Amino acid sequence: MKIEKSIELYTKGKVNLVGAVNSPVRAFKAVGGVPIFIDKAKGSKITDVDGNEYIDFVLSYGPMILGHRHSKVESAIKKALKKGYSFGASSYGEIELAKMVCDAFPGMDKVRFVNSGTEAVFSAIRLARAFTGNNKIIKFSGCYHGHSDALLVAAGSGLATLSIPGSLGVPEDAVKNTLIAEYNNIDSVEKHLAKHNDIAAIIVEPIAGNMGVVVPTKEFMEELRDLTKASGVLLIMDEVMTGFRSKFGGAQELLGIQADITCLGKVIGGGFPVGAYGARNEIMEMVSPLGGMYQAGTLSGNPIAMACGIATLKELKKRNPYKDFEKTASFLEKVMKEAATKFGVDIQVNKFGSMINPFFTKEKVTNFKSAQTSDTDKFKTFFWKMMEQGVFLPPSQFESWFLSSAISKRDIYKVKDAIYKAMEAVANKAKKM
Ligand SMILES: *Cc1c(COP(=O)(O)O)cnc(C)c1O
Repeated sequence: MKIEKSIELYTKGKVNLVGAVNSPVRAFKAVGGVPIFIDKAKGSKITDVDGNEYIDFVLSYGPMILGHRHSKVESAIKKALKKGYSFGASSYGEIELAKMVCDAFPGMDKVRFVNSGTEAVFSAIRLARAFTGNNKIIKFSGCYHGHSDALLVAAGSGLATLSIPGSLGVPEDAVKNTLIAEYNNIDSVEKHLAKHNDIAAIIVEPIAGNMGVVVPTKEFMEELRDLTKASGVLLIMDEVMTGFRSKFGGAQELLGIQADITCLGKVIGGGFPVGAYGARNEIMEMVSPLGGMYQAGTLSGNPIAMACGIATLKELKKRNPYKDFEKTASFLEKVMKEAATKFGVDIQVNKFGSMINPFFTKEKVTNFKSAQTSDTDKFKTFFWKMMEQGVFLPPSQFESWFLSSAISKRDIYKVKDAIYKAMEAVANKAKKM
């Protein structure tokens, strides 16, 4: 694999950027080697600065659900650009996207747009505290909810990969109201609820995607809903990853469970920086200017970002690719399992809708602890062998692979061959050791 230009940019980038990146996972630290630099992308493929073309399963960590530069999305952006980039006053696109979002999520009467998933989540927490008058929150280990202080405890994603317990610079005071429970373990939630009577909210990724894909049992989510309802605690579903991805109405539509507050991001902006949080009227009326919970944003509801989000969601709704996603994911699961069996590699494949990834372990993966039994060295070998064969995967064991509707049958057969070769490489490496 020729990556001279990426090496050159990596060297240059390190001078004025931290690790040459603007988000840690892009540094490829968990898989070693030099991070690739991207030149361009179109449809199901992404091309690096050395001209290597990859079938893209990163998809900007989820947003590019239609693939890159979908023609309808691109023309909507171009049209919006001609009218101006930011106004500091309201414009029609915000109303249109808000209606689409509220129609898709029946639990949301009103929505507030922000600029990232991180912002959506920390605002949702503030809102839950404002509404209940309580301070404590429960989060699950291995779930990632952005990089705000109170939530950087037992978080997955980059932190899981680097095994950093939380983060430097987060004062103890900032996390003292954050209680940790175990995913898929309702007892661990009940214990907290029994002990504390000042809990504002439980926040959960309804399909966990930041410790690799970890699927909740139906009972776990249902009990979570029942418990919160019975105790006056708000249920915040962080659908930044799953919103418009698991189904148009997110994991909530699929699970048939409604959150009190929903957080969105990623797909909602179609590649532009958009986040959102929303709830029923009673809760949202706490937010400024209607209520006393302050939250603002200079660029929130940006007209170009709204245009991209609207066009993406319109096309997504029309196309309804969710059944196809499931078929493709099932096919990939089958291929990975067959290849693993053929070469004698222990794997678990977790998937849900258009999110899938393998763990290199014998143990069934149902929470953060079992996810961490995965042999990350094997993942490393697998990752680079896939890259060599033109398949771009997230450079970490603990990230989900994403599907786009741009992926073709031909792409998938190419990926199948690549998986067999990569699995063989994993087996050969293990034999040598
Ligand atoms: C990505 C993600 C976030 C953070 O969103 P950013 O846009 O990166 O700030 C929060 N929650 C979940 C579940 C996510 O997947």
